[in-house]
Amino acid sequence: MTETQKYLQLIGEWRKCLAFSLGFGPQHCLRCKTVALIRIERHVGITFFACPNCRRDYALQSGKRLTFRWLHPISLALYPVIFDDSPTERAAAIAAMFLKQNAAEILELYVPEIRLELDDPTQQVRDILNCCASEQELRKYLRMFCEHVEAHLSDRSHHPEKSSGRDPSRDNL
Ligand SMILES: [Zn+2]
Repeated sequence: MTETQKYLQLIGEWRKCLAFSLGFGPQHCLRCKTVALIRIERHVGITFFACPNCRRDYALQSGKRLTFRWLHPISLALYPVIFDDSPTERAAAIAAMFLKQNAAEILELYVPEIRLELDDPTQQVRDILNCCASEQELRKYLRMFCEHVEAHLSDRSHHPEKSSGRDPSRDNL
């Protein structure tokens, strides 16, 4: 390969990288892998996409890689710890809060979706909400969060009378 060919190849690669980082290149669903995303909205510094196959929503912030969009279960679990340096310390308390505020049927959907990302990482979860903690710490927190929620959900299913205590204000109705 001549020096000129090498140079042109390098320029080609660089243009592809630039297009990708600016959100001009084709984006693919991180879960479906080969399905091209549909661009939904574009604002200064952020573009939103949706997967026509699995319906997951994505966000691409300038200078970052593709992530799930706000309202994805991971974003909901991360929201209370955006400013925490050590979110693992509060994993049990936040799981307890979610158990109090959400129906079991909802949490039974959230946990497997969070676990999918933990078992097969596709993105920097810290970029979803620009969290303070490290990626490693946040993933550890998410794993602990799932474990706490799962433990309580299985406890509830073995002791169904406990589930009536989810909303104590309604007990006397
Ligand atoms: Zn998809």
